[in-house]
Amino acid sequence: MTDAARAGDPTSAPFWDGAERGELLVQRCHGCGAHQFYARPFCLACGADDPEWVSVSGAGTVYSAVCVRIPVVDDLPVPYAVGLVELDEGPRLLAGLGAGCEIGSRVVARWHERDDQPPVPRFVIAEATDAAA
Ligand SMILES: [Zn+2]
Repeated sequence: MTDAARAGDPTSAPFWDGAERGELLVQRCHGCGAHQFYARPFCLACGADDPEWVSVSGAGTVYSAVCVRIPVVDDLPVPYAVGLVELDEGPRLLAGLGAGCEIGSRVVARWHERDDQPPVPRFVIAEATDAAA
């Protein structure tokens, strides 16, 4: 991970370390077992301290989606889709969406590589073999 990315938010540093290994991580509470994302130093469900980081499958369902048509940064040519994906474990992630994704689509996470920054998850339509796994 780049020092700049880690320095930005030490609470989420394990997420970015996982991203560099191609592993999607979310937090899970020691006390009640709830999963959560974004990273926090406590459990949103029960208030227990120091949730652990666990690997998740990356499978989920598109909860909301929008097509961006106005450029925000130079390396993201429009149009592109972003949305909230509800992971099978429960948390929702804001991420880029691949072609054909719409609300209710079954999707899986893939990693989008970026120059000088950790990769970010981007969700694509789950193939039949992914859905059966
Ligand atoms: Zn909890």
